[in-house]
Amino acid sequence: VASLIDSPINIGGLCRAAEIYGCSELHVPFKNIVNDKAFARVSVSSESHITIIHTSPLDLVAYLTGKRLQGYTILGVEQTDSSLILGADNTKLPQKVVLVMGAERTGIPANILVECDQCVEMKQWGVTRSLNVQTAAATVLYEWRRQHG
Ligand code: SAH
Repeated sequence: VASLIDSPINIGGLCRAAEIYGCSELHVPFKNIVNDKAFARVSVSSESHITIIHTSPLDLVAYLTGKRLQGYTILGVEQTDSSLILGADNTKLPQKVVLVMGAERTGIPANILVECDQCVEMKQWGVTRSLNVQTAAATVLYEWRRQHG
């Protein structure tokens, strides 16, 4: 879910990673994002091979509630004091999962965090506070695919 992301460049990168690792859908905040030049430069036609759905941040709670009723686990990809650590032995990513990415500067807002069944984060060693959202998504998607084949 890229509904909280502002930058077309980042949404393009999320589209590319989502398609490469086999997501069934990518949720985007803007209609016609695929016509944006900055998006297209990074997405490199990956948008032709994945279903892109317009889900405004205002509709996100309703969307997540619906997916949970369909049996999906809602997983926030975010640094929190109770996040599971990606790659740790006890961190199993559900196969049926909705991955929610946070906004570039402010992360996942509180009203969406409470909708997440769990959060997962990548451990960091450097000084910089967080990864770019594309990098974070690709890392989680790689591990999800590795666990589920
Ligand atoms: N919350 C960050 C800003 C967001 S970075 C801050 O306060 O600096 C943009 C998004 O990338 C985050 O909301 C999250 O979805 C993802 N992200 C970045 N680094 C991450 C990490 N180490 N673990 C999990 N998600 C991360």
